[in-house]
Amino acid sequence: MAEPQSSTDHVAPRVAIVGAGMTGLAAAYDLARQGWHVTLYEAQPQAGGLAGGFREPHWAWSLEYFYHHWFASDHHILNWIEELGWREDVIFRRPVTVVYHQGRFYPFDSARAVLAYPGLSWPAKVRMAAVLAYLRLTPRWQPFERVTAHDWLRRALGDEAYTALWEPLLEGKFGPYARQVNMAWFWARLHSRTPQLGTFVGGFQALVDRVVARLRAMGVAVHLNTRVQRVTRAGEGGGWLVDAPPRGGRFDAVLLTLAPHQAARLVPDWPAAYRLQLMSLKHMAALTVILALRQPLTRSGYYWYNIPKRAGFPFLILVEHTHFIPAQHYGGDAIVYVGDYLPLEDPLLQAEPEAVLQHYEAGLRRIQPNYARSWVRAWWLYRTEYAQPVPEVHHSQRIPAIRTPLPGLYLATMSQVYPWDRGTNYAVELGRRAARLMQADAPFTPEG
Ligand SMILES: Cc1cc2nc3c(=O)[nH]c(=O)nc-3n(C[C@H](O)[C@H](O)[C@H](O)COP(=O)(O)OP(=O)(O)OC[C@H]3O[C@@H](n4cnc5c(N)ncnc54)[C@H](O)[C@@H]3O)c2cc1C
Repeated sequence: MAEPQSSTDHVAPRVAIVGAGMTGLAAAYDLARQGWHVTLYEAQPQAGGLAGGFREPHWAWSLEYFYHHWFASDHHILNWIEELGWREDVIFRRPVTVVYHQGRFYPFDSARAVLAYPGLSWPAKVRMAAVLAYLRLTPRWQPFERVTAHDWLRRALGDEAYTALWEPLLEGKFGPYARQVNMAWFWARLHSRTPQLGTFVGGFQALVDRVVARLRAMGVAVHLNTRVQRVTRAGEGGGWLVDAPPRGGRFDAVLLTLAPHQAARLVPDWPAAYRLQLMSLKHMAALTVILALRQPLTRSGYYWYNIPKRAGFPFLILVEHTHFIPAQHYGGDAIVYVGDYLPLEDPLLQAEPEAVLQHYEAGLRRIQPNYARSWVRAWWLYRTEYAQPVPEVHHSQRIPAIRTPLPGLYLATMSQVYPWDRGTNYAVELGRRAARLMQADAPFTPEG
């Protein structure tokens, strides 16, 4: 579809969306359905953002850069996929999740598994079951955001269960911020997770590519490989100028779906206090090494390994992906992710890829003593700075609204997902909520 050249050509609003991750894609879909003129800008050569993936020539399925799955409770994205007509391409399985205890891994994803787990005394298990049941039955998260997860859980669970299981989780995911994360985050985690895990036939990138094709068919202009440099006031007549060589334009409204600190830099006109608010939101980076092995790393059948760094492992997570999705979809390669969340200043984020792999191989050998580099057919390293927002005490009061202080400019990012832990499910919810707000605000009045 040719893009309209001026806002007087059409009655329907002209909107630019910056970022074609799940948030931007979902917003684009809803706005295009309303007959709006939507232009989607994506800096990378393909859409999908953090949920994107790649495919080797001999693989039938794409593989996510960062391990991804859905929970059975992820209704926003599952309903959207249903709406798109592709529900039969969602598959759910029940792969095994394990935790570490004294040199071995034990399943920990059912009541039975917890009963059999040797790393906790009976009194600690009974107390933990009571606390988790209490949290599950408590319908409101708001009271929990006044206290840190560290303080609440240690008091409620006692030292034994807290230091054995939950403190390592907080430390691994939030590093230096582990003791600042609020208890509402933990409450939400407990309320939203299921042992059944899902994916899309062909991988998450297959879903993304189908969404992009649908958007294009609906008339959305999708500009890949097009980085937005600046968003500025259009001056007389109102609206916003999107500077995105060679395909910028003038729009009635703009939705930004990139990280808050990136959004802070993109718009020179933000009020100083708002820019400060965006810059002050904390987050962790993430790193994954993906190994395509000639044989499975383990014969255990376990999918997800929670790894306590304090036991001396160099990484937090090991995911034997082909114990969830059969290796036949990857040309027989056994796919293993090893990953970690890191503070932004961690040297591993800048280290040479080979140095990262060598660092992680020491941990791989603890899990599979026979592991050798000759097992590796290919490997990849992916890093991202904006991977995990850090929800501190009273986080709800720090979250920027989707409507920014500048009329016609909207923001929808992972940092606004709360109290739920960020995920594609909540990206879809957020994108659709942003679209509804924009529809409620249209037509956009020129700024004085
Ligand atoms: C390690 C890890 C594991 C995860 N595991 C899961 C999981 O198991 N299940 C799950 O559902 N979710 C998971 N997530 C979360 C999920 O990936 C995100 O919540 C979701 O993808 C966020 O989508 P988004 O559109 O908000 O942001 P993003 O995906 O970050 O999209 C933003 C887009 O904006 C683009 N962009 C940035 N700057 C510009 C610019 N100037 N111009 C144009 N484009 C720009 C970026 O290239 C990107 O494509 C995981 C994330 C990480 C990091």
